Amino acid sequence: MAKRIYYFGGGKAEGSKGMKDLLGGKGSGLHEMTNMGIPVPPGFTITTQTCIDFFNNDKKWPSHLEEEVKDNITRLEKETGKIYGHPNNPLLLAVRSGAKFSMPGMMETGLNIGLTTETIPGLIKKTGNERFVYDSYCRLIEMFAEVVMEKAAGIEPRSEELGIRKQLQKIKDGVKKARRVILDTQLSAEDLKEVSDKYKKLIKRVFKKEFPDDSRQQLEQIITAVFLSWFGKKAVFYRGKEGISDDLGTAVNVQAMVFGNMGENSCTGVGFTRNPSTGQKKFYGEYLINAQGEEVVAGIRTPKQIKELRKEMPSVYSQLKRITSKLEKHFKDVQDFEFTVEEGKLYMLQTRTGKRTGLAAVKTAMDMLEEKLISEVTAIGRVSAEHLEALLHPVLDPKAEKSATLLAKGLAASPGGATGMAVFTAEAAVKWAKAGNKVILVREETNPDDIHGMTAAQGILTARGGMTSHAAVVARGMGKAGIVGCDDLEINSIKKRFRVNDITIKQGDWISLNGATGCVYKGKLPMTEVGAGKLLSSFLKLCDSRRKLGVRANAETPEDAKKALEFGAEGIGLFRIEHMFYGKGSKTPLFLLHKVIISKNEKERITALNELFPYVKKDVKATLKVMKGQPVTIRTLDPPLHEFIPKNDKERKKLAKSLKISLIDLGNRAKELRENNPMMGHRGVRLGITYAEITKMQIRAIFEASAELTKRGKKVHPEIMIPLVCEVNELKDQKKIVDNVHQQVLAKYGLKKISYSYGTMIEIPRACLTADEIAPEVEFFSFGTNDLTQYVYAFSRDDVAKILQAYLDRKILPRDPFVTIDEKGVGQLMKKTIEKGRATKSNLKIGICGEHGGDPESIFLCHKLGLDYVSCSPYRVPIARLAAAQAAILERES
Ligand code: PEP
Ligand code: MG
Repeated sequence: MAKRIYYFGGGKAEGSKGMKDLLGGKGSGLHEMTNMGIPVPPGFTITTQTCIDFFNNDKKWPSHLEEEVKDNITRLEKETGKIYGHPNNPLLLAVRSGAKFSMPGMMETGLNIGLTTETIPGLIKKTGNERFVYDSYCRLIEMFAEVVMEKAAGIEPRSEELGIRKQLQKIKDGVKKARRVILDTQLSAEDLKEVSDKYKKLIKRVFKKEFPDDSRQQLEQIITAVFLSWFGKKAVFYRGKEGISDDLGTAVNVQAMVFGNMGENSCTGVGFTRNPSTGQKKFYGEYLINAQGEEVVAGIRTPKQIKELRKEMPSVYSQLKRITSKLEKHFKDVQDFEFTVEEGKLYMLQTRTGKRTGLAAVKTAMDMLEEKLISEVTAIGRVSAEHLEALLHPVLDPKAEKSATLLAKGLAASPGGATGMAVFTAEAAVKWAKAGNKVILVREETNPDDIHGMTAAQGILTARGGMTSHAAVVARGMGKAGIVGCDDLEINSIKKRFRVNDITIKQGDWISLNGATGCVYKGKLPMTEVGAGKLLSSFLKLCDSRRKLGVRANAETPEDAKKALEFGAEGIGLFRIEHMFYGKGSKTPLFLLHKVIISKNEKERITALNELFPYVKKDVKATLKVMKGQPVTIRTLDPPLHEFIPKNDKERKKLAKSLKISLIDLGNRAKELRENNPMMGHRGVRLGITYAEITKMQIRAIFEASAELTKRGKKVHPEIMIPLVCEVNELKDQKKIVDNVHQQVLAKYGLKKISYSYGTMIEIPRACLTADEIAPEVEFFSFGTNDLTQYVYAFSRDDVAKILQAYLDRKILPRDPFVTIDEKGVGQLMKKTIEKGRATKSNLKIGICGEHGGDPESIFLCHKLGLDYVSCSPYRVPIARLAAAQAAILERES
């Protein structure tokens, strides 16, 4: 029988930092700190396996747990010289959850466990501090009622207002009002005693049973509640979002209580060894005098900055600084710590890897590399795709900010900009967002029950709380703009509005947040992108030194091409010709394309194509010019024809007139183009086979654009790519056109050579299976995994969303195969294609240009399969550079 509990105390622990799987993040940190000689209240950790066994045992305590808890309580009693449940010398306990991966605020915590009518007098006598004891007792009842009793009764309050915690709060507020005081800390021992009596009466009324007055029962019930919280609604939602497995379970840490609420020389606080928002190397934290537990992060009182502690408790401050820098050096990463000072004595309650924003992730990785604290490989591993995504997030347009109405300024908790309609509850945020609105969640403070709303919102604004409040931590974790502690806001969540100075913002009114400065503006401000700063570019250069995969971008305009180059793309992997017909300023070319498509015969079509030609050539030329000789893969027209049938009457009339036909004729021609299954129809190379003149026009545009640039001494390298190929003869057929036009253009411009290559998309299973026949005809393959996924699953790309959601909800599919390549099916075909292709053409270049080319997991697969490059949207280029480096490192290490 494996050990269920690991003890720590007396400078020695049974666990260590390498035991996160079994002891959870918090547990392993407590064990490690104990071993390092750091002051940690002694205690023990119940393993994550025990939590799993609890669920496998019908939610009853599994074998041996009770005995082991008993034995370890005895050890704890010996060490502290106090006895659990003893009337004269009681030991009180803190019980905290802690899974392998940090899930801040998602599971339960219980403090002051063991206070009963029997132990209260003993503790008062011992401490001589009646006020402190009743304060702790009130806290115990509040926590227990919510975490244990409300949950056990299966009560799901319809709103926060109806929850037991709020009902208890009303009692306390009533007493405060009667005593004419504002703060909890102003309540006397007598007042708090009255509050606790009233609390117990309310509990009896609501739950039809007494608040447990037995210390053993309290401990057993709170441990059970922590286990149960693993499958609590919040925790399950959070895991789903973060991709954390349900099978891990949580550990439970039981420790001797230390008290930050023993008076003015006690406090409790949290902090980071570096700024989690900017990464700046500056000791960073917040604390509250005469407070306990979650209060600092709960946002109820706005905490003080850690630098104040230097004045208030200088020796504690320097000890804390010493300990936390030792921890950072030891763990070689930013630490997120919690501490309590009990009557001037410092205790560390937690140390774990600090969650950080994208900016902070890149900054700390590069700084720590420079400080020689970590290696290059570790620095690259410290930044995730999500971090980069957040870093590249849009911000409010600084020009617009200058002339906007500033409503208020709060704490800049999470950078980035956000604009949306103000909503005042998490439920409203979800509902409004579902209806397609952008919303900003405005709350007095947030708590873990708001997580759905925070997910749905663009940004988060709170009136209370500090930089480590729930709202701040979660916004940062989500990479969303967040402003907290904005205490100028007078929020009325019942009436759904807030006032600031004499301006009222109602639900649905637009506001904008600048999460980097803490400024809240009235109205909908335009957004803009952060340029890839110096810091990011040196980090990405570091990634480049490790990666093997090339990274290109999918781009069709010179603007996008410029952006792609800025982000570090090494070429364009997909220039979809048809995209020039969708963009702005495309009215004329789109009309001309309609004319081409609706033409009845070759003559009509050629006339229309000749009119269209200069537009295509101009676009191609502009992009080739920007790319300065880097490869530009230009794909011939691909989408189904019916997409280009004119839809409105005005345009139909104009088209009929231009073709000199009647509207009826036009209607008949359009009807002929309709297909039952357009995704399997007249698109891609099939268009070029049936209408050779369409291919001719495009190839001519590419070669003439290239020739003109070549003649002006510019470097160009177009790569002509044929889409939707299923048979090698299709490629041979189109190649003849390419060769012909090539010769004609050389002659026209008096050139000997235009540098180009010829290749194909691989997006139909038959092309994969016959890759050995196809390869000798081309110089490159590019996987079109959007279509390949469509044809492998027989899921229509355009219609699958509804079905897919059901598949994902019911875990029939582990993830959306249009986002991450399905390794088993699509991946297998890719592997075969590569083997077959390279068997007949060893120097075949192979890339990917489906959307998967920007998905980190798919990039890992592309690296594993030995592709030459990935191509993705310009904004994902940095992410692809990072993922490609991480893939190469992973391969080297495994
Ligand atoms: C693909 O199918 O993966 C692809 C890149 O082409 P499109 O999305 O244009 O069909
Ligand atoms: Mg395709």
